[in-house]
Order: sequence, then structure tokens, then C-alpha cells
Amino acid sequence: ATHLVWLRNDLRVNDNTALYAACRDKQAKVIALFIATPQQWQQHQMAPRQAAFIYDNLQLLQQALAERGIPLHYHQCDDFTASVAFITGFCQQQQVDQLFYNYQYEVNELQRDALVEKALFWQDIVVQGFDDSLLLPPGSVQTGNREMYKVFTPFSKAFVKRLQLGLPECVPAPAARDGAPLQKLPALEPFDYPRQPFDQQLFPAGEQAAIKQLRHFSKQPVMDYPSQRDIPALDGTSRLSVYLATGVLSPRQCLHRLLKDHPNALAGDDSFIWLNELIWREFYRHLLVAWPALCRHQPFTRWTRNVQWQVDDQQLQAWQQGKTGYPIVDAAMRQLNSLGWMHNRLRMITASFLVKDLLIDWRAGERYFMSQLIDGDLAANNGGWQWAASTGTDAAPYFRIFNPTTQGERFDAQGKFIRHWLPELRDVPDADIHQPQLWAKKNQQTLDYPQPMVDHKEARKRTLEAFEAARK
Ligand code: FAD
Repeated sequence: ATHLVWLRNDLRVNDNTALYAACRDKQAKVIALFIATPQQWQQHQMAPRQAAFIYDNLQLLQQALAERGIPLHYHQCDDFTASVAFITGFCQQQQVDQLFYNYQYEVNELQRDALVEKALFWQDIVVQGFDDSLLLPPGSVQTGNREMYKVFTPFSKAFVKRLQLGLPECVPAPAARDGAPLQKLPALEPFDYPRQPFDQQLFPAGEQAAIKQLRHFSKQPVMDYPSQRDIPALDGTSRLSVYLATGVLSPRQCLHRLLKDHPNALAGDDSFIWLNELIWREFYRHLLVAWPALCRHQPFTRWTRNVQWQVDDQQLQAWQQGKTGYPIVDAAMRQLNSLGWMHNRLRMITASFLVKDLLIDWRAGERYFMSQLIDGDLAANNGGWQWAASTGTDAAPYFRIFNPTTQGERFDAQGKFIRHWLPELRDVPDADIHQPQLWAKKNQQTLDYPQPMVDHKEARKRTLEAFEAARK
């Protein structure tokens, strides 16, 4: 028998449910396939940094699979539609009996898989899909009325209860098959997609690097996370998002490592705060399945469709380039543009600024983030944007509007983060770093830094009026 594992968002050999299942029959010949779909990626605004990260990981995955006697086939199609035709032909050519893959939950991906299943049904090929990218499958954590939760805290409580009843297990990397290791691996052709170099120190490719970072973080930093996670000048978060977004690491691996180091995590010790972030990740993915319109960028709260957004490309660009005149916003946007990663507190501040201070449609921000983020993930990004824009489930109420100056004062008191990304403010004293223009004026200094592009008080008023008008 020939078993084909179609790898998509699960670029790892450890704890890979589909791969493990494909290898269970020791007699079967197991082959793996990855299909690049550049036009589809373009439509999904995949960041060129994420494409580069995926490419580097594929090379390492090819080796890891070869050591186990599993060849990785690689093909490039334009889009998902073309990939359906390709995989149907490929299965015939390779005489595949069973296809294995891990589910992806976004609508285009689900449609593609439905077409593949239909086509292969007529060829008598058994298709097996698995829930793999989540701790608990979508739909498995519901309210008493059998609905998806719309508010995070009760979801998280119910989620933890489910985990206390039984943990999702990790599966091992498959053992080497007969004929392993494979020699002479074909070079993987680069994708026809822009690839932008990324910081290899911060985001080293490969499962081993991800596991190492997880182990390091879970030992001690996770216990400091509650006090440090909101301070962008500190290295206080795990920086595992890119691995989770591309499936180089699984959330089960995170959970089990955490419980090994901190057996009371589920009972709510300090390490639970980090686990709760992983549960946010679950929440947004479960939501996406319950409300597929989120994939089409529809606001969850219907009346917010009526908000009259400002269309102002110049202002949008100033925000994108980190030239708003609000130091914490600008430093954050420069971090994003430079690293393809932004600290979570800053994602909230910059998103709020675009929507609530500039009154620009949150979808413009969602798209821009996606085009830059190495960890870009539809569910988390959409969830984060809709939260900040007050258009989602469990969103910040529209009248709660971040003040970008006081947010800076609270979370970057001495301006350490700001000065790192805005060297033009190097000489501004700590006490004035959040309003450097006032300091410059008072001290007759010239700064190579713009004036605040909006007055926050006025902007806040305008936004409240726009939301109130929309709600009527
Ligand atoms: P840690 O703080 O160490 O958290 C651990 C893991 O939990 C993360 O790696 C991530 O997988 C998950 N996580 C943490 N916070 C959230 C959250 N609020 N929602 C969902 N998952 C979470 N995260 C992405 O992975 N991809 C995105 O495209 C993305 N876009 C965002 C956009 C906005 C506007 C906002 C407010 C948040 C967004 N997030 C996104 C969530 C969060 O900012 C990042 O996951 C986090 O900053 C990644 O850093 P870390 O790995 O050090 O996180």
C-alpha cells in the first residue's frame, strides 16, 4: 500500500497526527508532499518573510523525513484550485491508496479539501483528515446551549475543565522505515513568491530550534511572564508564534512541556497565564469555524458595518511607516517592518490607533499586518483586529479607546523600547519621551520627527460619534 501525507501547515515530524497515522502500517510505503500555491498566498497577503521561513523549514523537514525513509515531493501550483487537479493526478501516478492530512479550518482551505475528497472518492482512495493544530477540536468546547462561546473567559474556564478531564496526547515522530535513510535529496526549488530575509537569531528555522526555545521559556521565563509580558522593552514572551502559525511546533507540545515543568499550571499557578494565551489562540480558531464569515473579513458585530470609515491613504501610509508622531505607535510599527514581529501589547496599541484615532477601516490594518508578519495567522490576526476595533466577539467596548501617550507611559516608562526603534529621539529625556515635540519646542530643539498627526482628544470624540451614529 502507498500512503501519502500531504503537509500544509504542519511542518514537523514530532507530534504530527497525520504523519503518525500514515506510518502506523509498517508495510506501507509512505511518501510526503508539499504544494506551494503562490497566487493563493498572494490573495491571502502572506508576508514574504513567512514564505522565506516556510521555505527554510521545508528544507529541514525534507532531511528529517529522509532520515526516516520518507521522500518529500514538492510541487508548485498557482492556487488551491490548481492544487486539487495536481494532487488528483499525483495520487494516480504514485498509485496512492490512502491520503492523510491535518485539517486547516479557513474557508478556502476547507473548500479545497472538500474538492480533493470528492475527486479521490471516485478513484477509490481513502482520505483521512485529522484535528491537529489545536489542543481541542473546534466545536468541542461549547456553552450549555451547544453553541460556541462569544466571550473568552467562560470559554477558557470550560476549556481548562475539559483539559482536566483528559489531556490531548502527543504522538512521537515516526520510526525509520525500511530503506532509511534516503540519500541524494533533490534540491527544493524556491517558490515563485517574494521571499524576504528574516532574523535567524530571533526565529531560527526548524523543529529543534522551536523545541529548544519552548524548553528554555517553560523553565523560568514563563513564571515571570505575568509581570513582564506587557513590557515590550523586555524579552518577556515566548516568541513561539511563528512556529505555532506554521506548524513547526504543536500546541500539545507546548502544553505537555509546561505541565512537565509546572504540574500545577491547570490549577492556576503563575504559569497558567501563558497557557491562557494559548487558549486565546484556540478561541479564535474555534470562532472561525463557528462563524466562517470571519474568514471573509465580515465584522462579527453587524451594526459596525455601518461605521463611516475615513479613506485616507496618506494617513494609512504614515501609520504603516511609523510616522504618526506618537512615539510608542511609531516604534512599534518600525519593529513590525523590521522584524515581521510585534509585541502583543503593541499590536493592541497600534491597531487601536489606526481604528480609533485615524478612524480607518480595521481591515486595512489587518491586511497590512498580514503582509508583514512572519507569524501571520488569519484567526489570531482577525481576532486581534476585531478585538481592537470593537467589532468582534468579546471585543473591547467601542467607547474604551486607548490613549497612545498614556499607553506609552505605562508600558515603556523610560522610553527604552522607543529609543531602540526611533534613534531620532535618542536625546529626548525620559520624562519627555512620550511627547518629544513639546520638549523640542520648550527647549528650542529641532527633531527629525513628525508632529502628532491627530489630536487624540478630538480623534476620540470623532470616533465615538461615528460608532454611535452607526449603532442607531
Ligand atoms: P506569547 O505571549 O508567548 O504567547 C504564546 C502563544 O500564544 C503565541 O505564540 C500565540 O500562538 C498565542 N497567542 C498569544 N496571544 C494571543 C492572542 N491574543 N490571540 C491568539 N493567539 C495568541 N498572533 C499570531 O500568532 N498571528 C497573528 O497574525 C496575530 N495577529 C495579531 C493582531 C493583533 C491586532 C493583535 C492584538 C494580536 C495578534 N496576535 C497574533 C496575537 C499575539 O499578539 C501574538 O501571538 C504574540 O504577540 C506572539 O508573540 P509570542 O509568541 O511571544 O507570544
